[in-house]
Amino acid sequence: MKGVSSNKRRTLLKGMAAAGAVSVMGCASQLASSSRPRVVVVGGGWGGLGAVRALAAAGKVDITLIEPNDGFMSCPLSILYITGYAQAGDFQRGYGGVDALGVRRVKDRVLDIDRAGRTVKTAGQSIPYDFLVLSTGVEYMEETLPGYAEARELLPVGFRAFEQAAVQRQVSAFIERGGNFVLTVPKPPYRCPPAPYERACMIAHRMKEKGTKGKLIVVDANKSPMPPPLAKPFVTAMKEMYGNQIEYVTEAEAKSIDGGRKVLATSKGDIAFNHANIILPMRAPGLIRKAGLGERFAAVELPTFQSKADKSIFVIGDSQGSPLPKSGHIAFGAGQQVAEQILATINGSYKEAGLGDEVPLPTAICWGKVTTSLAVMINVTSSISVGDPPRIKFEVDPAANATASKGAADWGRDMWNAMLG
Ligand SMILES: Cc1cc2nc3c(=O)[nH]c(=O)nc-3n(C[C@H](O)[C@H](O)[C@H](O)COP(=O)(O)OP(=O)(O)OC[C@H]3O[C@@H](n4cnc5c(N)ncnc54)[C@H](O)[C@@H]3O)c2cc1C
Repeated sequence: MKGVSSNKRRTLLKGMAAAGAVSVMGCASQLASSSRPRVVVVGGGWGGLGAVRALAAAGKVDITLIEPNDGFMSCPLSILYITGYAQAGDFQRGYGGVDALGVRRVKDRVLDIDRAGRTVKTAGQSIPYDFLVLSTGVEYMEETLPGYAEARELLPVGFRAFEQAAVQRQVSAFIERGGNFVLTVPKPPYRCPPAPYERACMIAHRMKEKGTKGKLIVVDANKSPMPPPLAKPFVTAMKEMYGNQIEYVTEAEAKSIDGGRKVLATSKGDIAFNHANIILPMRAPGLIRKAGLGERFAAVELPTFQSKADKSIFVIGDSQGSPLPKSGHIAFGAGQQVAEQILATINGSYKEAGLGDEVPLPTAICWGKVTTSLAVMINVTSSISVGDPPRIKFEVDPAANATASKGAADWGRDMWNAMLG
């Protein structure tokens, strides 16, 4: 299980202390008089579960997890379900293991954050906090594609948990009936940049296997597959393995969509389709903007993931707007990291580090499957010197391979166990 190693975390805590401007010591002095500080975690996905488990392991704080879903579903690796090679249940887990840790779980949606009163509000409850961790993922920017909202049901994005079923239905109808399947890719930042190309390759893999008569048209707003270090292995796979299935159109922005006529207007002309997977631009959910924590994404300090607007709030995962890739692995590691920071703040064990020290940031591992048995591994490491932008380093397999495919399956199982027990 690759999270943030304890050595790295120690360095990190030292580094966080060096960032005087982002110190949380103010929070410690404002803790409520309750004997155990209250930490509220919003979002039971990758980041939220990283925070909850690390906080629970210490046994020093009262933890409330607020999440509207009954259980967890992984986006990573769920392409195998979308393309018919696995069951939805293979990517789902209940929250029983989290409940067993003594975490208070509230099955609800946070509607409002009262920063002055240090309270979050759901439809039925006001829940006070001393520290708030937000890991609320993404919402889709529907207004960027005129016509989309009217045809939402026909045009699933499927980049959030439990939405995979709608995309699976589109893919399965296309595989059976053929025709044109259109898949759009927005400009970054969006969740898991390699995921649209993985989706394209795996749909094409299924087409080949089932002899589907049709075309998968990938309409990419970018010049080449994102992130740039991944362009070569994905272009190679799309051209060499799936040249007869995929038409890859680059620098083509989706302009509007007519769900009735089934036509996508792009900067390179109109495309008629029978089935579609429209991947829209993304932003943090409205809750973040409403609370004044940022515009498109929450503005955070690195390495602490502390809100620039409010030192008692940490925003992790895909809702935060740092240049780090939007990856579940990073979200989970950031959750562990902010948990350690909160615990260190509470017990006063903050250690100063010298300015200019290099502080490691959570690592990312992403997988891009191109067949059921071949994948590309993307490993991202990053670090920051306090006050400077993060230095981000990509290591990418030069070509899809069987070792990465096996690694992806092992990684998924280890991560889900680490999150959900
Ligand atoms: C197809 C695909 C493939 C991917 N592959 C990889 C991969 O190989 N490796 C990798 O590291 N990452 C991968 N990712 C990215 C990964 O899924 C995300 O980066 C990760 O889910 C981010 O975690 P998060 O906690 O920010 O958001 P999420 O995991 O989406 O969790 C957010 C949670 O917040 C809850 N929520 C939202 N609003 C509220 C509210 N107001 N109140 C209460 N709860 C709320 C939601 O219900 C949700 O459960 C992939 C993503 C996709 C779509």
